[in-house]
Formats: sequence, structure tokens, C-alpha cells
Amino acid sequence: MMIKKILIANRGEIALRIISTCREMGIKTVTIFTDIEKEYPHALHGDESFNIGSGPLSDTYLNQAKLIEIAKKSNADAIHPGYGFLSENATFARLVEKEGLIFIGPTPEHMELMGDKIGCKQALEKMDIPFVPGYHGDNQEPLHLLAKAKEIGFPLIVKASAGGGGKGMRLVLKEEEFISSLESAKREALNAFGNDLVLIEKYILKPRHIEVQVMGDTHGNYLHFYERDCSIQRRHQKIIEETPAPHLSDKIRDEITKSAASLIKEIKYRGAGTVEYLYSPEDESFYFLEMNTRLQVEHPITEMVTNCDLVRIQILVAAGKKIPLKQSDIKQTGHSIEVRLYAEDPDNEFLPSIGKVLHVGIPTLKNVRLDTGYVAGNEVTINFDPMLAKLISWGENRDMARKKIIHSLDEVSFLGIKTNREYLKRILTTPEFGEGKIFTNFVEEFKDLLGPRELSNEELALSLAAQYLSKKTVQANSEDVAGPWDNLTEFRNI
Ligand code: ADP
Repeated sequence: MMIKKILIANRGEIALRIISTCREMGIKTVTIFTDIEKEYPHALHGDESFNIGSGPLSDTYLNQAKLIEIAKKSNADAIHPGYGFLSENATFARLVEKEGLIFIGPTPEHMELMGDKIGCKQALEKMDIPFVPGYHGDNQEPLHLLAKAKEIGFPLIVKASAGGGGKGMRLVLKEEEFISSLESAKREALNAFGNDLVLIEKYILKPRHIEVQVMGDTHGNYLHFYERDCSIQRRHQKIIEETPAPHLSDKIRDEITKSAASLIKEIKYRGAGTVEYLYSPEDESFYFLEMNTRLQVEHPITEMVTNCDLVRIQILVAAGKKIPLKQSDIKQTGHSIEVRLYAEDPDNEFLPSIGKVLHVGIPTLKNVRLDTGYVAGNEVTINFDPMLAKLISWGENRDMARKKIIHSLDEVSFLGIKTNREYLKRILTTPEFGEGKIFTNFVEEFKDLLGPRELSNEELALSLAAQYLSKKTVQANSEDVAGPWDNLTEFRNI
């Protein structure tokens, strides 16, 4: 069936990303926005746009009944969930299909299977997929788990089966800490996911996070779009991603990408997905971690090196078409890096930063992409994810892509908001990053190196300009003008 109109059940940069592909494909878009987002680009750029009010997310972006109602009212034939929000919610996907609409994503059954780390490992056990040595059985008696933990050896990780975003996960260094860590992991898991089942995994020392982009259709095609290295993480959240993964031999690249493609073939997966692995450079071993059943935040770097539009393929597959490519058509050319710009203060415990965006600096170099959901005048609030933008560069090789993104970071400013821009630059300019010696604990290990430093004269001048601009806005908007020093916490707002 042809898809003519898509409701985008999301906001910000990913809503705009989906709109741009829809425009190219001649598909109309319907977007949604809350009361405070009336002037946000995603509210303005949909062909139609609906105000979904205000209140907790359960009343707005997660309000399934409201979304279905809007899809029907606007005659949309499909819903694209983006990432986050309802993108991995099997109940929603089922509801969408029951209402005669197309869910642009995998089947609800695949979402359920992959949302459950224990169930997924049990289902994949018969396949030739390497798992981290550990325990993912049904017996959850603490003493049984302790016995298993002793067999596996310390250090190890206790993980919530329903976990995500690092929640319900505990590193256990020695046997004496096991029971108390188990209890606290279970408590956190129960609170966050309503389910306290856990699994145990051996802790892999200095691993890298390597994931494979995959895509399946309903005609028996199961392809991979190569790997991404997402080892630069802060508190288990990715902040810099790149492809190809540095220092990965062709042999391992071939094995890991084939392993992911055969996994989705085995389960007859439909749509876009990402198979995540931990890779241990020491002995070149890799282990399956989990599969994410959606488009990832970091999908643009794959698009840059493969020259494929992943959202377009998602839409074609959802419409029942074949993926318009063979595996041999998909090649990695050059190198791409993405950094995630957050509204936060890296030099003050990464506290979230809020306020009005006074100006957005746009990168000028060729082959650099800025995916953002904000323009000047928009208010950054604590209601949503603090990611302001993704900056993506492409270069003929890794060093060119790295230099280009460092240069572009200087151009991309969000005046008025504290961001992690300088922090990202500090990471990108370490000799270790330059040499591709990355691993998941990178930012903890180089904590001292990545701390605040003195501002250069140019940075000082820019921050004073920002300070001046933000002061002028405050004065223009308010009778109650602050004293001259009141805004000094904004000093490094560049
Ligand atoms: P979540 O679903 O909460 O994101 P994952 O299982 O995907 O949890 O793991 C998130 C991150 O935690 C990984 O990218 C890696 O940095 C770290 N990690 C997870 N499992 C292990 C392990 N067994 N050994 C070492 N690090 C791990």
C-alpha cells in the first residue's frame, strides 16, 4: 500500500528529520506539539500540526488514545514513532495496527522479545550468537544467583531484564557486595520498569561498544548497514559515535556485521534495528548485548558513510515494499563522527541548563550536518530530553572527520544555554581519541584531563557577548531587572 500521510508521534530534531525525508518522498506530515512548543520548528514545519496541550508526558507525547485520534482526524495512514517515547512500546504498535493504521517499525512481538533481556537471550540461545558469559535463567532466588555469580567470577554486572538507559544495572566488584547490589538493582528495576527480573554478566574490562545497523523487509531481505562505535559514553549514555569503528580488523567487521544480519534473518525481523555488542580489543572477542527495535539517535553517521536514507527505507518497508538495495550495494565510504550537544553544565556535575535560546550558530563546512529541533527564541525546559542538537561530520578519513567536527563545534553555538560543547571538544582533542584508543570508560578514566580549563581570550570575548545579549533580552522582557551580578552563573554561556 502507498503511504500518503504520516503522523509523527515525536518532537524536536527527530520529527524534523522524518519531515525532510517525507518531503522528498511526496508524503504529507502531521506533527504534534505541546502548549510551550508552539514556536518550535517541529510545530511549524508539519503540513498539519496539532496542539496536544500540556501536563505530564502521559497526557501528551505518550497519550496513545490522543495520538490515534489525531491520526484518524487528519487521515494519516501511518505513524512514525521516532526514537524514545512510544517507539518501543508493543501495546502502542498493536493499537496502531488494530485501528487500521501502519506502525513504521517492527512487529509488537519483536519489540516484546527484544525489550526483555532474559527472554531475548533464551530465544537466541540456539543460534550461533556469542553472549557475555553469565546467567540468564528463570531461577531468581538470591542464593542461587549468588552461586551463579561465584561461578562467573568477579567483577560482574547485575542487569535488569527490562532495563534500558543503564537503569537497574550494578557493577559488583567482589562477592561480599553481591547481595546488597542485587537488592538495589532489583529495587531500581521494579520502580522503573515494574519488573525486577535480573540477569548476571561477567564484567568485560575496557570493552568497546560496537553496534550494527540492520534492516529487514517482508520479502525475506535482511541487510546490515555496517557498524558504529559508540564507546564514548557518560553514565552509560552515548555522547560521541563514529563509523567505521577504529582499529577493527576486516575479519572482525565481517563477522560482527554478518552475525547481526543473521540474527534478524533468524527472527524474520521487519524494519530498522540495531544489534549492540561489547567488543574486547584484547582478544578481539565480541558479545551480543541487546537489540534496539527502532531508529537510533546516531543513525546519521551510517547515512553519511553509506549514502543511504534510513528513514526512507523504513517507510518503504512499512508500506510493504522491498528494501531497494542488495547487501553488495551497501558500502562504507570515508568516516563519520556524531557528537550530541546537551543543555547541561559539564563543569558543574552536568546539571541541566534551561533558558531561552538567543542564537543558533550553523556550521558552514561541506559534509557537516546539524540536526536540531531548536531555533532562536525557543525556550529549553526541563520537560524534555536535554539534547539540543546532533552535529555530524563526514571526512575522507577519521582524522579529517575529527578535525572537521572540532572546527564545526566552534561554529555551532546555542547562545543563552550552557552546553557540553567545550567538553566534547576536550574529548575530541585528547591524543587518545585522536589515535582511536577509545573504550566505554573513556570519560571516567580521563576525568582529570576533561575537566574545566581557563578560557582563551576569544572564548572570553564570546561569553561576554552572550552575557550582554542575554542581559538585553532579560531587560527587554522584564520589569524586574536583575542586578548586574545576578546572571554571572551564565558567564560561560557560549
Ligand atoms: P541498557 O539497556 O541499560 O542500555 P546495556 O546492556 O545496553 O544496558 O549496556 C549499556 C552499557 O553498559 C554498555 O554500552 C557498556 O558500556 C556497559 N556494559 C553493559 N554490559 C557490560 C558488561 N558485561 N561488561 C562491561 N560493560 C558493560
